[in-house]
Amino acid sequence: MPPRFTWPNLFAEHLDCDIHENGRIITDELGRASQRNIYAAGEGAQLAPSSLMISAAEGNKAAGAVNMDITDERF
Ligand SMILES: Cc1cc2nc3c(=O)[nH]c(=O)nc-3n(C[C@H](O)[C@H](O)[C@H](O)COP(=O)(O)OP(=O)(O)OC[C@H]3O[C@@H](n4cnc5c(N)ncnc54)[C@H](O)[C@@H]3O)c2cc1C
Repeated sequence: MPPRFTWPNLFAEHLDCDIHENGRIITDELGRASQRNIYAAGEGAQLAPSSLMISAAEGNKAAGAVNMDITDERF
């Protein structure tokens, strides 16, 4: 049997975030999950295994979204 990837996103499930059938946390393009004030980036929010660069870039975008959301700024 080939190896399988799993996404241990129980924490997000407990918070009632929408989870893709493959296990990733569903977010918008800026990392906002379906529940308010919850953000996800990196492998937890990817359909496939990611990389350090992509995960870091997504984390940066999500951090920007947090900043926008708490300050109500739009850039
Ligand atoms: C063997 C291997 C080799 C790889 N080689 C490369 C490579 O050469 N180059 C490259 O770019 N990428 C590589 N990758 C992929 C890269 O490691 C990942 O894409 C990247 O680390 C994903 O970053 P992340 O922050 O999304 O997740 P992670 O780095 O997995 O960080 C998630 C963190 O959250 C913690 N965590 C999980 N659940 C909880 C919880 N409930 N509460 C608190 N903390 C929690 C985990 O312990 C972990 O520290 C490799 C991956 C593997 C497995």
